[in-house]
Amino acid sequence: MSNVTVCVRFRPLSSKEKRDLGDNICIQSMDSETFIIKDEKEEGFTFSFDKVFYEESNQADVYEFLVLPIVRDTVNSINGTIITYGQTGAGKTYSMEGPNILESDEKKKGILPRVVDGLFACIKTSADPTKYTVKLSMVEIYMEKVRDLFDLSKDNIQIKESKTQGIVLSGATEISLSDTAEALQSLSSGIANRAIGETQMNMASSRSHCVYMFTLNQESISEKRVKSGKLILVDLAGSEKVEKTGAEGRVLEEAKTINKSLSALGNVINALTCGSPAKANHIPYRDSKLTRMLQDALGGNSRTALLCCCSPSPSNASESLSTLRFGARAKHIKTSPLVIKVSEEKCSKKNGDASGTRDESFEKILEKMSERLNDEDIKLLEELFIQAGLFVDPDSEEDLESAIQDVVQQTISSLMKAVEELRSTVEMLQRENNAMKGRLAVAERCDALPGKNADFLQKIFGFLSSFIPGM
Ligand code: ADP
Ligand code: MG
Repeated sequence: MSNVTVCVRFRPLSSKEKRDLGDNICIQSMDSETFIIKDEKEEGFTFSFDKVFYEESNQADVYEFLVLPIVRDTVNSINGTIITYGQTGAGKTYSMEGPNILESDEKKKGILPRVVDGLFACIKTSADPTKYTVKLSMVEIYMEKVRDLFDLSKDNIQIKESKTQGIVLSGATEISLSDTAEALQSLSSGIANRAIGETQMNMASSRSHCVYMFTLNQESISEKRVKSGKLILVDLAGSEKVEKTGAEGRVLEEAKTINKSLSALGNVINALTCGSPAKANHIPYRDSKLTRMLQDALGGNSRTALLCCCSPSPSNASESLSTLRFGARAKHIKTSPLVIKVSEEKCSKKNGDASGTRDESFEKILEKMSERLNDEDIKLLEELFIQAGLFVDPDSEEDLESAIQDVVQQTISSLMKAVEELRSTVEMLQRENNAMKGRLAVAERCDALPGKNADFLQKIFGFLSSFIPGM
């Protein structure tokens, strides 16, 4: 089990911040992991993270510490996710893309172009004679709809769960990439499409979540198998509160939807960090498109890194504090990434793969259920899912199937809870039983006492029993 890597990045003061408050900053660095931040009331809060990147930090520092290990894992077929979080203008897109995705200045290049370089460099140095294919999908989540950034006509991409590939974007365009230049051109066209969408829908990019998904398939010639690694990068919408931006009408609705998916993200993180690891408590991944898409990343089966972007200005201290608290909570998530093999399913079963056994038992349950259910039962089940707050597309068999899995999971966790309660009741009864045995043994010993003592104790017993009924 490994934790989510959580880092913080403070951008330099903006010209507006400098105009308003001069060179004042609200943070005081202790070392490369710890700092103190002061709120509006000058109260100091100390935070520690895996690494803190201060204003003077380089794009390369962020990439090497936070991203490169995950790129290497992707090449070894371990899924990875990198998320940027923070208020609008805090430096999420600058960190992810750089000042421009086609930026030629080596120092200013963002995470994405470096990831592309890293992936192709790892592939080049791989020892095994392997055939690699790299594919890229780009989508945007806006008002709870997933839009394909490579094909704007696909404006309602469904998120599905595949038994072998985990969470997938059903029908999203996948572009094959053969080298760095091609990858950058594709990223650039996706980003340009994002801007077209913004004008069409009259919105700003800070209001939508942008998701970049790289899939790396490896066909090993010597071992005759195909492995797959997924690397997801997420540039989240701004986390600022609605009141501060003075949003009204449609913009307010929009902000609420964004905040809903960000608070759904917070709720998922809470559920993942509050429950005991032994208990299978319900995690509300289905409460938003964002959390559903990040289900693999947050619920295990992925190496995950979070970059919390903040302004160092006292004028944004409360937003920075809320970003830092979010990061501190995310630090407590435990994940256990698995190597994904997409080739023969038989292969994973043969190796006793844990997810294979779980899938098998799910499949058996589902098979049995579908044999027994008639149309009326299915309608009732759908109603039950809606009541339980689960998203169900009645036309989609796969969604219904995974919703059934959710209910099964919930049932299992409540049964586990009931068993735990039963166990503590049994333990309590055992303790009482032992105490009774002890009392009985003393009473028996008293009975066995000869002559005068026995008479005396008998009298005491007679006396007490006149006060205590049933003695
Ligand atoms: P966000 O995506 O979080 O809304 P941006 O990444 O667009 O914010 O950053 C807002 C502004 O701050 C941009 O003009 C960007 O160039 C600048 N900026 C952000 N981070 C840095 C940084 N580390 N170094 C220099 N400029 C930065
Ligand atoms: Mg941005």
